[in-house]
Amino acid sequence: MPSAELVQEAARQMVICNACRYCEGYCAVFPAMELRRAFSAQDLSYLANLCFDCRDCYYACQYAPPHEFAVNVPRVFAELRADTYRDYSWPRLLAGLYRRGGLAGGVISAVSVAAVLLLVLVLGGPGVLLSAHVGQAAFYRVVPYAAMVLPALAIALFGLAVLLAGAIRFWRDTGGSLREMLDGRALLRATADAFTLRYLAGGGAGCNYPDEGFSQSRRWLHHLVFYGFLLDLAATTVAAAYDHLLGRPAPYPLLSAPVVLGTLGGVMLVAGTVGLLVLKRRSDPAPAERRMVAMDVAFLLVLLLTSLTGLLLLALRETGAMGALLAIHLGMVAALFVTLPYGKFAHLVYRYAALIRGAIEQARA
Ligand code: SF4
Ligand code: SF4
Repeated sequence: MPSAELVQEAARQMVICNACRYCEGYCAVFPAMELRRAFSAQDLSYLANLCFDCRDCYYACQYAPPHEFAVNVPRVFAELRADTYRDYSWPRLLAGLYRRGGLAGGVISAVSVAAVLLLVLVLGGPGVLLSAHVGQAAFYRVVPYAAMVLPALAIALFGLAVLLAGAIRFWRDTGGSLREMLDGRALLRATADAFTLRYLAGGGAGCNYPDEGFSQSRRWLHHLVFYGFLLDLAATTVAAAYDHLLGRPAPYPLLSAPVVLGTLGGVMLVAGTVGLLVLKRRSDPAPAERRMVAMDVAFLLVLLLTSLTGLLLLALRETGAMGALLAIHLGMVAALFVTLPYGKFAHLVYRYAALIRGAIEQARA
């Protein structure tokens, strides 16, 4: 749970906001806040995960620092969200490591890449890494089928299990029942809000990001990352179907569905992650929280390197660099999936759960 001091501080700020209510049109947080008179740790965790960090309320606030009330909603909510990712994930050791930010992300990536390179060296020798492999099933001549598929499946299932268990605990702790989780209307509302990133539009003119000027750039860059990630997942799924159902293992022609989907997704991910890293570097640190910034940067860098190595592999797959590039790309994919439940990616799960709860509450109000 968040520390007593953090809960007390967040509750203090919510009491001021509840009396003021100037920001009620900006996002889902303020209408949800207005349904409450007092704020428990669970209420605050729920409200914090409804926040999209658009920062509109910070720059609009007449009580923000240097005012003595020192209201800074995005910052206190970012602290609470960082605690949510810690409290609802396991094992604690891995969660704690990743919260050290870029350094831990870098160490996990380096270890993953080294492990795959070592595996290839042990199974096939250095020649496999440094010679060209072409034709059907060329990738399996570098990393054999079982060594590629089984660890990937185990890591992906473990990550999904951690995220699902965290989401269920978060849902229960914020007062939800199983029946409510299956509320069709609320699911539809929350899904539409999530897929359009509605609350990254702030009050309509966009986020106050990277500074107090209004801008839609963060929303569009998030769209690139989100839909780029989905396209890459679709590419992997189609490739798996080609391999296992049609007996056609990778690599595939440039105009095949897996390559077109994967390339489009990869380019969108590179553009989106680079754009978000630039915005983050230029952003005002006053409404930001140090741990959350470190987690954001680590996640974006791992995602960027995964996409870049995937695109490089596609461009150089018929050259002698293919073996080494495949091993490096698989190592980055492993690092991405190992770290998913402990870092910034977790916000997708907890924010979606909070959006469902928000839709249920507003329908009842
Ligand atoms: S953030 Fe400031 S302006 Fe907005 S509701 Fe709270 S106290 Fe009022
Ligand atoms: S930062 Fe944006 S999303 Fe978060 S509470 Fe303020 S207005 Fe709402």
